[in-house]
Amino acid sequence: MSIDFNGRVAIVTGAGNGLGRSHALELAKRGAKVVINDLGGARDGSGGSSEAAKAVVADIIAAGGEAIAHGANVANFDEVQDMVAQTMEKWGRVDILINNAGILRDKSFAKMDLADFRLVMDVHVMGSVNCTKAVWDIMREQNYGRIVMTTSSSGMYGNFGQTNYGAAKMAVIGFMNTLVLEGQKNDIRVNCLAPTAATRMTEDIMPPEICAMLQPEAVTAGALTLCHDDAPNRMILCAGAGGYASTRLFETDGVFIPQDQQSPETVLEQWDGICDIGNQAELASGMKQSEKFLTKAMTYVQAN
Ligand code: NAD
Repeated sequence: MSIDFNGRVAIVTGAGNGLGRSHALELAKRGAKVVINDLGGARDGSGGSSEAAKAVVADIIAAGGEAIAHGANVANFDEVQDMVAQTMEKWGRVDILINNAGILRDKSFAKMDLADFRLVMDVHVMGSVNCTKAVWDIMREQNYGRIVMTTSSSGMYGNFGQTNYGAAKMAVIGFMNTLVLEGQKNDIRVNCLAPTAATRMTEDIMPPEICAMLQPEAVTAGALTLCHDDAPNRMILCAGAGGYASTRLFETDGVFIPQDQQSPETVLEQWDGICDIGNQAELASGMKQSEKFLTKAMTYVQAN
């Protein structure tokens, strides 16, 4: 099966460098018209320049593709709305949004300034929210939309010095989970990508021979499977160095403890049953957990 994006319009945030650049080049190569968004700041989010985004646009046009640059700061909703308005004016639709823009402000939690926590949350979480909000009604009216959030193993599993980044990266998974439910009747599919790649974000923490194995293009191959016509929904795809895996959230079946016996001691006594992965399941919504617990309670009530 070959994947093309002919006739599709894509916005890729943070596409001036690294992974976003790689996603944008491949989308354009496969027929998409691409908005190259980039604030052009440093790795920690300071400063700004339009040079990186313009260079990617020039590369795409030189290769025969179509692209425009926009320097919106994704954390600023007015600027994001302007970007989407310009996209609509030029191409009349938005089919794909890859929320990729990101920064780092690493420090152990003990030393972390709350301003650095807020800024990282603002760029990754509110940046993804702002861009999604700005295209959501367009995608609903089109009855078509593909949105990719960029999460991280740091959020799913933790990384020393990254409480801010990890919290932000886990938040976009929660954002996806409900968007999936609200977008499905309009064929809006939302997925997450957890990359590992050598970019300016990671280049100084790994030796050059390891960086050579971590090409952004390997991640892009996975990213594009999340935003084509037959894309999945609610997938968390992990990709790096040619490895591809899926992270999924399962819940154990758990136990039921009757009202007259509920205490920390009885919960502790049931620990093995609570943690038993034998009948674990992936739940399609938060309501499914309530249904599971209430079914157990009703079964007990009926039997007694
Ligand atoms: P990168 O620094 O090379 O690229 C990030 C781009 O985002 C930069 O061009 C930057 O100018 C842009 N940007 C930053 N803040 C912005 C803002 N407010 N508005 C618009 N653009 C902004 O980093 P990368 O490694 O390519 O990271 C891309 C995404 O992948 C990020 O979300 C990052 O957290 C995530 N990620 C990367 C890795 C990895 O191994 N490289 C691992 C996990 C997650």
